[in-house]
Parts: sequence; structure tokens; C-alpha cells
Amino acid sequence: MTEGQFAGLSLEDLPKSHSFTSKLPADPEVPTPESSTIAANENPKLLLPRIVKDGLFVYIKPDLHDLAKTELLAVSPAAMRDLGLKMNEKDREEFKEFAVGNRIFEKESYPWAALYGGWQFGDWAGQLGDGRAIGIFEGTNPNTGVVYEVQLKGAGRTPFSRFADGRAVLRSSIREFLVSEALNALSIPTTRALCLSYFTNEKVLRERIEPRAIVVRMAESWLRIGSFDIHRVRQQRKLLITLADYCIEEVFGGVEMIQKAAKMNGYGDAYEGLNPYRTLYKEVVRRTAETTALVQVYGFMNGVLNTDNTSILGLSMDFGPFSFMDTYDPSFTPNHDDHFLRYSYRNTPTIMWWNLVRLGEDLAELFAVDDPEYLGTDEYLSSGIPESKFEDFVSRAEKIIEDEGEFYKSVFEKHYAAGFARRLGLTVVKDTDSNGIIDSVLELMKVHKLDFHRFFRHLGSVKLFSADAITADGIAAVFLTGERSIGVPSTEDSAESIYKWLIEKYRARLEEDGSTDDEARKSRMNKVNPKFVLRNWILEEVIERVEKRGDRKVLDHVLHLALNPFEDEWTVDEESERYRDEKRFTGDVPVERQGIMCSCSS
Ligand code: AMP
Ligand code: MG
Repeated sequence: MTEGQFAGLSLEDLPKSHSFTSKLPADPEVPTPESSTIAANENPKLLLPRIVKDGLFVYIKPDLHDLAKTELLAVSPAAMRDLGLKMNEKDREEFKEFAVGNRIFEKESYPWAALYGGWQFGDWAGQLGDGRAIGIFEGTNPNTGVVYEVQLKGAGRTPFSRFADGRAVLRSSIREFLVSEALNALSIPTTRALCLSYFTNEKVLRERIEPRAIVVRMAESWLRIGSFDIHRVRQQRKLLITLADYCIEEVFGGVEMIQKAAKMNGYGDAYEGLNPYRTLYKEVVRRTAETTALVQVYGFMNGVLNTDNTSILGLSMDFGPFSFMDTYDPSFTPNHDDHFLRYSYRNTPTIMWWNLVRLGEDLAELFAVDDPEYLGTDEYLSSGIPESKFEDFVSRAEKIIEDEGEFYKSVFEKHYAAGFARRLGLTVVKDTDSNGIIDSVLELMKVHKLDFHRFFRHLGSVKLFSADAITADGIAAVFLTGERSIGVPSTEDSAESIYKWLIEKYRARLEEDGSTDDEARKSRMNKVNPKFVLRNWILEEVIERVEKRGDRKVLDHVLHLALNPFEDEWTVDEESERYRDEKRFTGDVPVERQGIMCSCSS
């Protein structure tokens, strides 16, 4: 059956499983689904915030909500298709009940919240966990075989809620819903968002009082580096091994699968002969390096890249203060509270490696032990590596982490160069491109404060080899149409520099690449350089229109643009509001709305 023929299933018919909760140990205080149901009535303390010591998750149901007081605001057709659901499912009451947590599939999968910890802004933060996310089931798309863990974000408190309310505000829910789908449309690995529901008369307290919402989100796994961190810090070796084994077998499909995929992805025999835990580490390193390169290429920043927000699958996830770059500034951080620029554009690759070193430390005993049999002994489980062997162990572990650091760097650099080369319309990447054409284009954008995305899109349509090739006089009308902010070189100076770069650097590199067909290059570039980018100023406008003006259409509209970002035009009727919105949303970013930052509150 081809994908085109598969119309999708109903929510009931979607095959559901619960591998996470059946293959991993539950919190012994709530060991079974039944005990959770009993606790809810007789001992609710067990389901309220507390330290969870010996299991990897707690069985817990979402709160029940009055459906009449909620509204299904938006559904992603792309996520419905990828999960394997029929599009018109969204019109059924049953779907709406599911979207707010009222409808669970207890017999197939009892809901759960997972434990994790994390290093936040460089410090150990202790137990975190799904404080407001509840897993509902694992759904298999029978057409593709892909299994998604489906969870609700904002559906109520769990033992991991700490001092907070388990709820989510509309503002951050709209942001997470849209950006998940926008990144996916740009082929950047990410967790997904299925739908968004809104509570018509319920508010929650943050820095101000705000409307409440729930997002249904999905990912092939929600495990994070923080899921491993917590067991190392607590020295719970058995749990760590169980989780690592689960990750290898269930999340990655086993060592052989990992090796096969690596070969297919051009990593030759880089994985050959490694023990399973080193293979796991390498695989997370590889995926993270690839995604980090891609987010850099697309100027995307997640402003809270702590280990609890760093996916084992290399997915972009947990979107709080994030941003796509407007005018290019490598020191930009989207996080208002990130005073040290830890999560700025420039520092992102380094910080991701810092996070991966934490994972290396978590897994070190497993991949660097001299005798793997020792990991199964009681002595190891209670005391770790013996003192007599410690020094040797540490040097082996350090060497492995160092080697994986080199691997991270090489994977990152390869994908970084390839990604930018694609955006520049090149067909073959050369070793000299990173320090050559790529550095030079970034420098040009930085000095002249050019818009990161509009620049690449315009570059695609610039003619360089035809009879009507661009002239120095034509530059400003293409590249410098926006209002110039203070402290930027004059339009004349910028136009001159851009022209010089176009002719001396870009045109020369295209010639070398054999890319002298302007039309063919344009068509290649328009497939990788989005015309629509989900910028923070657009998100602010969407939120304002939904929240304050009761505008529902703008959300669907912006979702549609985010799902189809490479089009030239979406709406033809020039008189319509949609058309006018599209023009604004894809035009120059108003100077006062550039580089909007957010706080962590959500
Ligand atoms: P974040 O900064 O959103 O990645 O969240 C860090 C931790 O705080 C995670 O364990 C979240 O589940 C938890 N958390 C954040 N907001 C809330 C909330 N409103 N209620 C309960 N837990 C929350
Ligand atoms: Mg998080």
C-alpha cells in the first residue's frame, strides 16, 4: 500500500502499545495501573509531587475536564497523517475528549509520567520528570510502521510537578504546537504536535493571569539525557543499565540496526567492534551532531538547551524561549534570562557537546569497564568500579569521550557545510567551503545586519549568469528593502559589499561548481530556503489575535504556512486578509519586532 492510498484510521482502530511501561520498572509505590486507580481514591498523596526513587515512571491519569468548556483550536494534518489517523477524526466528540485528557485507552495502555533529572544552566537540578506531560499510549502507524509515544502536555499534576500546577498556558502551547510542525516541515528532527485545545473559561497564574491550554504531542521517544543523568547522580546502577538496554533495544532497535543505519548514512564502519553501550553513546552523539548542524543552518535556537531538554534521538524538543534568527547576529540568545549567552546561536554546538559529555559520564561505567561481565555482579551494582581499577577506568572513559568528541565535531562539520552548501545552491561541497564561501556569507550578513532567511531566499532568484544578470544598481531593491536599523552601514555601502561578494565570491564558487544555470539553481534553492519562517514576531501576533481578538483562522493559516514553507504564494485573492497577512509574514521584519526574546515562564 502506498502512502497516497492510506486514508488513516480512527482513534480506536489505531494500534496501541505500552512498551515503555511494560519493559521498564514502575515506581514501587504505584507498581500497577490498578494501584494507581486505587491511590487516586484512597491515597492521593502518592500521585502528588514527591521524590520518586526506584522506578522510571509513575502510572497516573490526566485530570478530567468539562468538554463544554474547552475548544479544539487547531489540528496538524501532517501529524495526523504521520500518526496514522484519518483527518476527519478531528470532528468527532471522541477526538476532542482525547485531546483534553478525558479519553484514555486504559486497556491498551495505562497513562504514565516519566522520571528524569537534568543539568540546568550548568548546575545539577535534581529530580525533574514529566511535571505536566502524561503519556497516553504508543501508537503505531500501520502504513509506515513508525511508533509514536503520544502524550498530553498541560493535563494536570504528576509526582514530578514539584511546586507547579501541571498546566500549560495558551501562549506557550501555541508556540510549541506551531514550532514542532514548522521544524518538521524544514526536515529538522523534532518532536511533533498533533493538536491544541483551549480552556474557554479557565486561567492559570504565571507572571500574569493567562488562558490555559493542552497540547497533544508525539515523538518516537521522549527519553532525554536527563533520563540517564538522574540514575548516575543517585548511583542507581541497575536502573541505569535497564534504561540503557531499553534504549538500545526498543528505541534504536538493537545494535545491528544502529550499525546498519550508520552505514547507510555514510559513517562506514565507524561503529564496528564497539560494545553496545559505546554504540548507544555514539548513536546519540551522531544524531545530536546532525540536528545541531541543521538548526545552525536554519538559524534556529532553543533557548533552554539543558540536559533535560536534550533528546536521546537528537530531536529538537521542549520548546520554551526559542527563536529563528531575524537579522544575523551570532551572539543572539532567544532566552531573556540567559545573561551569559549560554544558549546563543554561537554557543549552541559547544553546549550540545557539553550535554553529551554529561551523557558520556552517565554511561562511562557501562562502556569503559574492563570486563563487561562485572556489570552483572552485586559488587558492581552496589559499589561501582573498585578503587584498584579506578584510575585505569577513568583514563579509558576519558579517552572514549574524547574520541566521541572528535566524532561529534566531524559529524557536525560535515552536516553544517552540507546544509549551508544546499542553502547556497551548490551541488558539491568542498572541504574549503566552511572557511570559504560559508564563512564569507555569514560575515556579510553579520556586518550588514541582513535577514538570515530572506537573504538566502533572495539569493536564489538573483541572476548571475544570464544576459539580464544583476547589476550593482539592482542590489538594494532585492536585498535591502527593509528599514535600516541604527548603527548599520549605509544602504550604499551595504549594496556595494553585497555586490562585491556576489561577483567575487559567490559567482566564482558557482562557476567552480558548474552551477551556471540560474533557473536550475533557483529551483534547487527554493526547495531548501523557506519563504515562510515562524518568527517570534509572527507568533506574538498569532497569540494576540487568538487570545485577545478571538481570531481562530489565523492559527490554521499560520500552521498552513509553516507546513508549506517553501511555496512562493499560498493565497491568490489579493483582496483577502489572508493574502495581506502572507505578504506581511513573509516580508521584511519590522525593525522594532526583530530579535524578540522570551522568558522561561510557560
Ligand atoms: P522546562 O523548563 O519547561 O523544560 O521544565 C523543567 C521541568 O519543570 C520539567 O520537569 C517540567 O515538567 C517542569 N514544569 C515546568 N512547568 C511546569 C508546570 N506548570 N507544572 C508542573 N511542572 C512543570
Ligand atoms: Mg523540559
